[in-house]
Amino acid sequence: MPINQPVSFLDSVNLSFDRAAAAMDLPKGLARQIRTCNAICEMKFGVELRGSYEIFTGWRATHSEHVLPAKGGIRYAPFADQQEVEALAALMTYKCSIVNVPFAGSKGALCIDPKEYTLDELEHITRRFAQELDKRGLLGPGLNVPAPDMGTGQRTMSWIADEYQKLHPAEINARGCVTGKPVHFGGVEGRVEATGRGVQYGIQEFFRHPDDVAYAGLEGGLEGKSIILQGLGNVGYHAAKFLQEENGAKVIGIIERDGALFDESGISVEAAFQYKLDHGKLEGFPVGKFVPGGREALELACDILIPAALESVITGENAPRIQAKVIAEAANGPISYDADEILRKKGVFIIPDAYLNAGGVTVSYFEWLKNLSHVRFGRLDKRFAEAQNAKIIRLIESTSGKPLDKKLTDDLLQGPSEIALVRSGLEDTMRESYQEIKEMHDSIDKITDRRTAAFALAIRKIADIYDSMYL
Ligand code: NAD
Repeated sequence: MPINQPVSFLDSVNLSFDRAAAAMDLPKGLARQIRTCNAICEMKFGVELRGSYEIFTGWRATHSEHVLPAKGGIRYAPFADQQEVEALAALMTYKCSIVNVPFAGSKGALCIDPKEYTLDELEHITRRFAQELDKRGLLGPGLNVPAPDMGTGQRTMSWIADEYQKLHPAEINARGCVTGKPVHFGGVEGRVEATGRGVQYGIQEFFRHPDDVAYAGLEGGLEGKSIILQGLGNVGYHAAKFLQEENGAKVIGIIERDGALFDESGISVEAAFQYKLDHGKLEGFPVGKFVPGGREALELACDILIPAALESVITGENAPRIQAKVIAEAANGPISYDADEILRKKGVFIIPDAYLNAGGVTVSYFEWLKNLSHVRFGRLDKRFAEAQNAKIIRLIESTSGKPLDKKLTDDLLQGPSEIALVRSGLEDTMRESYQEIKEMHDSIDKITDRRTAAFALAIRKIADIYDSMYL
């Protein structure tokens, strides 16, 4: 790697992969097979808008097909490019493998600034993009399943699902061609908050491991720990809100596009989010101190830094000045490979993106399962569970001769709702995967950090699939 040259996002992903593969004993050539992006398609298509034709450029990368469907978001951004799509698709392969979601990795992007178009125009453009994806075999419940990412959301997914349904009227599982849909259109409860919720569960799990907490130079639990957040969007807002409201953490800094907001005594994430919704920026928020620009805020002292905006925000240039004890990578690729090396040497504990932000794809998996089974989670067992619990309560009360606590019995009488099941499945996934990564870390001497351990875990699982295919 040339000295002083910024390391690209794609190179960072590939170098992290190579670092993990080098610590493992793999059949010759297999690491290269796993790392290689299988296919990337660039599409150019015209859309008639405002009295003339406008040409759009989009990409869909299928990084791997060791299992199908391939899964990954679609990003609408004016700065989207093919390399970024490839890097994100590769991360998706490793991410799915780490959290035991049976998908391969894919990613897509459209080079567009959604703010420049009306809703009707965006619908028209999205439907055309869906047609392009479909005719190239890059869309379908068994083939390739997009989800929302930056610049896209539930509405974009509904347009794609509807277009796919029109193109394939006999496909009974058509709605499963995308995830992240609204609940009334085949989505699942809890998908919107899922990535942020997964970040919360991942950080909670870190605090359940005293050796990891001590390594980071911290002690105790999440209560009172100081957090600096970058990016008050879907992922950052939910993660910080849950950590503040449910775990008692203190959000002392929020960095957004227009600048950074600070308050040592803590900022209400909900209030800041509502202010940003109303004003489109954080400047002018009535509490705390606002500093325009604000990228330097990443370097301020805090217990946990949560980058939740974009990739490569911590590079070889600013890494030496980072003071956070833990960096929880909610965004994809926020730390470049060279920065990662610097931070590792400083003893910063990094909870890697390929694990920490996998809550979105995990709940997407639940949504896809719901679409294929055509039934809401909890529909069959909710009342049954309530009736069973009522019998147990009656039995205990009649045996003891005393009524049980009302609040306790009310809780017990609630059968599992879809949201409760989704959260429970997500929490279980994040807890188990943390443990698996830790065990991988402990089992190979050459592995000295959690990112390498997470990559090694993904490589091991994918290698096993290749192995069993070519026995
Ligand atoms: P989003 O568009 O909802 O939010 C991004 C936020 O970052 C916005 O509030 C934006 O104003 C802010 N931002 C943009 N540039 C900034 C800058 N230079 N400095 C500070 N703030 C800036 O996007 P999101 O869905 O929350 O995704 C954020 C990150 O998480 C991305 O890296 C994405 O790939 C990753 N991710 C998202 C999901 C998901 O389910 N949405 C899943 C996995 C990973």
